[in-house]
Amino acid sequence: MTKFKIEFDRSNCIGAGACVAVFPEAWIMQADGKPNLTGSDVKNTEFQEIIVDVSKQELEKHLMAARSCPVLVIHVTNLETGEKLV
Ligand code: SF4
Repeated sequence: MTKFKIEFDRSNCIGAGACVAVFPEAWIMQADGKPNLTGSDVKNTEFQEIIVDVSKQELEKHLMAARSCPVLVIHVTNLETGEKLV
């Protein structure tokens, strides 16, 4: 397994909900119309991030959620290579 960083710029989220539809275990919609990133220490804030050590299958779900976002406010970085995947 490889470590990845998932970053969420919540301030620029438009609440389209695509991430929630694609990966509902990671993205939980809130009363203000924007989701929280599951596992983040902070909730309902402008910036959230988590470090995950995931299988290829779970990484694919994070990538699909990030790519589904119409305003590209979700980013995924491979922490071992430094490569920004989304
Ligand atoms: S897909 Fe993007 S804009 Fe839509 S709720 Fe998720 S983070 Fe926000």
